[in-house]
Amino acid sequence: MAGEGLFGDMPAEEFEEYGRRVVAWAADYLAHPERYPVLARTRPGAIKAALPAEPPRRGEPMDRILADFEQVLLPGITHWNHPAFFAYFAITGSAPGILGELLAAALNVNAMLWKTSPAATELEEVALNWLRQMVGLPEGFMGIIMDTASVASLCAIAAAREAVAEHRFREEGMAGGPRLRLYTSEQAHSSIEKAGIVLGLGRSGVRKIPTDSAFRMDVAALRRAVAEDRDAGWRPFCVAATVGTTSTTSVDPVPAIAEVCRQEGLWLHVDGAYAGMAAIAPEFRWALDGCDHADSVVINPHKWLFTPIDCSAFYCRRPEVLRAAFSLVPEYLRTAEAEAAGVRDFMDYGIQLGRRFRALKLWMVIRYFGWEGLAARIREHVRLGQLLASWIDGDPEFERLAPTPFSTVCFRARPRGVPPDRLDEVNAALLDAVNATGDAFLSHTRLRGAFTLRFAIGHIRTGESHVRAAWNLLRRELRRLTEPR
Ligand code: PLP
Repeated sequence: MAGEGLFGDMPAEEFEEYGRRVVAWAADYLAHPERYPVLARTRPGAIKAALPAEPPRRGEPMDRILADFEQVLLPGITHWNHPAFFAYFAITGSAPGILGELLAAALNVNAMLWKTSPAATELEEVALNWLRQMVGLPEGFMGIIMDTASVASLCAIAAAREAVAEHRFREEGMAGGPRLRLYTSEQAHSSIEKAGIVLGLGRSGVRKIPTDSAFRMDVAALRRAVAEDRDAGWRPFCVAATVGTTSTTSVDPVPAIAEVCRQEGLWLHVDGAYAGMAAIAPEFRWALDGCDHADSVVINPHKWLFTPIDCSAFYCRRPEVLRAAFSLVPEYLRTAEAEAAGVRDFMDYGIQLGRRFRALKLWMVIRYFGWEGLAARIREHVRLGQLLASWIDGDPEFERLAPTPFSTVCFRARPRGVPPDRLDEVNAALLDAVNATGDAFLSHTRLRGAFTLRFAIGHIRTGESHVRAAWNLLRRELRRLTEPR
């Protein structure tokens, strides 16, 4: 039993026994996620209250620990693995990805330097090179895995700042330098603005460009903003365009934005966290049009490539600038290999030193499903999204509030007899009612002021029957809410 000896790890036989049990549990869980309500029904604080406030003095048997996992923790889990999870972006892992995580945990290598695990660094290069080819980015982009798109965008914007020639930001900090301005659309993810805060631009250093009727960055407005800012003494330095905005999955016109960046000497970063992955299917290659001219691009295998969170693929066409922004090598991290053989030490290209072996799960996912298998799953999600959009368009009690380029549908109920100023209230109530059933989980956004339901399809187990059932549920709950009692 655990805790009997004061030294050493769990005995190998015990590890094997519980390893089998845990994998068996996971296999059964993944085969039947529908037995749980999608959205956790726990009251705030209930999980904490059910666990001891003090740590155990002695080790406990694994049976008891696993029993608490099932009895105490599982009821507090919102099941992202449920095929009716349609909220946010319905990210999904997959069995080969889980096995990759397990092996990475067993190896527990730190991929900070090439030397600290050559296979981890080189597999990262190989897997990201494969992914680059799959989405159609040209050679010349260096790939590196980051934990999240938020951090990848932060690193991109730090590199953009490093590329500003007239001030040595790395040495001097922001003081005494020009007032930098970053441009992104009003529909961009909050991580871009957050990067501006972290990097010392301040929120005022991030200018949000209006969007057109399809929620895409207005390039003429971008041009005007850059010109206005130059006149007012700002130093424009970077544009962060989005391929697949969070609310509506709109795609900014990257080719035209790239042209502005070329003319104005601005770094172009593309946040393709969600929709960049669609480019794996040839018919959605257009999603990354213009990205060959970008300085950096992030796409997220942990969003729409069936790779367990976390895993973001960050591509940079000017790795020497990224390196100049981040590399700081103390004596204890110097290696002869990096100096003599010119191998890459990934710690030089980002914030963190310690790096998990994330490439393993990504490589296993790509190998297990293959390029065609991955493309087929993404294509099916888009088909389901379009099908749902057609049902909404055909129902007079609902309306779509944005175009549906991929598999995320933005819409609201518009029941007869409900005045326009009550639609927000009715739709918020509809969302709560649907989510309370435990049979589906949707989230919301606000578009041009209107409370909007978001139905995002991206889970590997989601099929047409799940989408249809959730659509029927929406219509049933709407009737219940609006029928006179
Ligand atoms: N960018 C976009 C367009 C997103 O939709 C999201 C999250 O949904 C992010 C960035 C942040 O992703 P991450 O959780 O990997 O930081």
